[in-house]
Amino acid sequence: MNIHEYQAKELLAKFGVGIPAGIAALTVEEAVAAARQLPGPLYVVKAQIHAGGRGKGKFKELPAEAKGGVRLAKSIEEVEAFAREMLGNTLVTIQTGEAGKQVNRLYVTDGVDIAKEYYLSMVVDRATGRVAMIVSTEGGMDIEEVAHSTPEKITTIVIDPAEGFMPHHGRAVAYGLKLEGELNKQAQTLAGQLYAAFMALDCAMLEINPLVETKDGNLLVLDTKMSFDSNALYRHPDVMALRDETEEDPAEIEASKYDLAYIKLDGDIGCMVNGAGLAMATMDIIKLNGMFPANFLDVGGGATTEKVTAAFKIILSDPAVKGILVNIFGGIMKCDVIAEGIIAAAKEVNLSVPLVVRLEGTNVQQGKDLLNTSGLPIVSANDLGDAAAKIVAEVKKAA
Ligand code: GDP
Ligand code: MG
Repeated sequence: MNIHEYQAKELLAKFGVGIPAGIAALTVEEAVAAARQLPGPLYVVKAQIHAGGRGKGKFKELPAEAKGGVRLAKSIEEVEAFAREMLGNTLVTIQTGEAGKQVNRLYVTDGVDIAKEYYLSMVVDRATGRVAMIVSTEGGMDIEEVAHSTPEKITTIVIDPAEGFMPHHGRAVAYGLKLEGELNKQAQTLAGQLYAAFMALDCAMLEINPLVETKDGNLLVLDTKMSFDSNALYRHPDVMALRDETEEDPAEIEASKYDLAYIKLDGDIGCMVNGAGLAMATMDIIKLNGMFPANFLDVGGGATTEKVTAAFKIILSDPAVKGILVNIFGGIMKCDVIAEGIIAAAKEVNLSVPLVVRLEGTNVQQGKDLLNTSGLPIVSANDLGDAAAKIVAEVKKAA
């Protein structure tokens, strides 16, 4: 689960992390009231969406020369004007995709005089089972680009959770950022605070870009992104309360109600599969046949007809879907139950795209019989390779 920048900063502040003063706002009036409470004379109006690259983003509704979703305002009047331009409009950044995201919240912050921008992030490194802290002197820009062209400017410090954060980790972070004197000490303290927050909140990722050195010699977190391990959210009702469903894919929210593991992707072929491994293999084999999956969907082991129907509707609600591939291995789940679900859903939603079904396992013959006698235009497949080839052929035929 992701949260907004202002929420992440408020969480970090509780661990002693230095952040610029700021107030969230839902309306232009609130943005103006927020600015009045800040010292000025420089304010920053920041669009709150669950995507980065806001500064360089563009608003669909504004002229091309208009600035993006992070604006420096030199007066309360400018704060008001920028808030009016941003609220309700759609911000497109490199991370939102072409559709962009509607800006419904703003964060008005105290403008900082920046001397230098740095990068710092933390992730759970699955390969080592440890927490990696990644730092770079090249903040404010695309870290992927830095990693690609100047990898020597990135330092990774790995922390064993059994050992915990030690002073030497802090020194390594400060050294990686090439900081000296007072700033070096601040970086060591900050690294410890961030590690404490990361562990206490069960974060999956924490990125600070940029971390800034101010002209008066302090380190401040200017921008942050934070995401949480959803398997641990039950331990953090306060974090769960920060969920903003308007930022999430409606199909993914619907899927979570039925306990379906669904992730929207960019391709054309909708997939309904049981088991995460089989779902991954199905996506791979679709690609091998020259097309791309429209989603990842694992209906799980013990799916009911109701669950299968819901899954089917979710796939079909995606206008990009040009064909559906159902690939089920009936182990715990029975093939006839799946078939019933498919038939019920196909009838209910008035199926308009080709559908290929590959069933194998318990009650496979009953399942196939149900599909064949359903009167619906369902293509049956015998194995995974056959199924992928058939759905790609059907979609090309229908195009
Ligand atoms: P992002 O574009 O979504 O990553 O948003 P950021 O919060 O990182 O802001 C983008 C850029 O705007 C930063 O890298 C800074 O260069 C600039 N910026 C943001 N806040 C301030 C501020 O308080 N003062 C100044 N001078 N620049 C800022
Ligand atoms: Mg940023």
